[in-house]
Amino acid sequence: MKGVEELSDVRGGVGGGGCVTLARMALTLDRLREKLKEWKGCELAKGANPVLGEGNAKADIVFIGEAPGQKEDELGRPFVGPAGKFLDELLASIGLQRRDVYITNIVKYRPPGNRDPEPSEKAACLPWVKLELALIRPKVICTLGKHSLNEFFPKLSISKVHGEPQKVTKDFTVFPIYHPAAALHNGSLRGELFEDFRKLKEFLDRP
Ligand code: URA
Repeated sequence: MKGVEELSDVRGGVGGGGCVTLARMALTLDRLREKLKEWKGCELAKGANPVLGEGNAKADIVFIGEAPGQKEDELGRPFVGPAGKFLDELLASIGLQRRDVYITNIVKYRPPGNRDPEPSEKAACLPWVKLELALIRPKVICTLGKHSLNEFFPKLSISKVHGEPQKVTKDFTVFPIYHPAAALHNGSLRGELFEDFRKLKEFLDRP
C-alpha cells in the first residue's frame, strides 16, 4: 500500500497542482476511506476506529471539526453524536442539510476519553484532510473550534475571529466558527453559533 505521505502528494493543497497526481491515481473519497482503514500512521489508530469525512463530494462548503467522539468512533461517521445533532440544527437554520455539504475532522481517530488531540496526532492525520480538500476543492472551509482553525491560522484566536471570513486566495476562504460541542458545555455560546451561521449564510449569498 502507498503510505499516506505518498498519497498526500498534493502540494499546493486546495486549488493547487496536486490535482494532476490525484487524477493519475484516480483517487476518490471512497478509495481514501478504504486506504484510511489500512493506515497505522497515528498512535490513536491502536485504540479507535477510523472516521473519514462524509457528505457531498462536490460541496462548495466543507466543515472541519476536531476529532471523532464516542458515537463517531462506534459508527465510523463524523458528527453523529450530540455535537453532530446540534450541527444538523445549525445547518438547518440556514437552509442546509448534511447532503449539501461535506463534514470531516482534523484527526481521524477518537482520542481516549475525548481528550484534546496532541500536536503529533494532528500532524500525523493532516495529510488525510488535505487529500479530502484536494478532491472536493471547496470554496469555503468552515473550521469548527480552535484546533481546526489553528491548522490554517496558527496565530488566530477563535474567540476573536469567529464569524469573520478569512480570505486565503481569491477562490478560497476559511470561515471560523465555534465548535458546536462548546455550546453543549456553555449554553451562552448557543446564540453565538446561530449568529455565526447567519453570518455564514450572508457570506455565501454575497454575489
Ligand atoms: N466533535 C468533533 O470535532 N468531531 C466529531 O466528529 C464529533 C464531535
